[in-house]
Amino acid sequence: MTLFEKIVARQIPADIVYEDDLVLAFRDINPQAPTHVLIVPKRVIPRIGEAAGPADQATVGHLLVQAAAVARRLGLGETGYRLVINNGTDGGETVPHLHCHILGGRPLAWPPG
Ligand code: AMP
Repeated sequence: MTLFEKIVARQIPADIVYEDDLVLAFRDINPQAPTHVLIVPKRVIPRIGEAAGPADQATVGHLLVQAAAVARRLGLGETGYRLVINNGTDGGETVPHLHCHILGGRPLAWPPG
């Protein structure tokens, strides 16, 4: 089981901000911005580079639409936010369970360090 599956299964506590049948969103334990939330599919896709087929397409589309909805609900709609998906070692991925970072609450530098 991945770390995020354990959060989905409530085996590990998390500060959950949104849930539906397909996705769960919760606050990152090591926030890199005033608002830093992760949104994950409940059904594991290891990383975006391995998403394939119609079911994964539907899940990833839903994940991104709900990421924007969560950002709006957390008050980031006016000021803006960044959605980040890390893929693989050089991408900085540390948990092999697809997740989209939702970052906002201050101006974010680009490119990141
Ligand atoms: P990534 O580096 O893209 O794989 O992102 C993994 C993220 O998961 C990091 O930002 C971590 O801070 C976050 N993280 C790790 N463990 C937990 C946890 N138990 N609850 C919430 N976020 C976590």
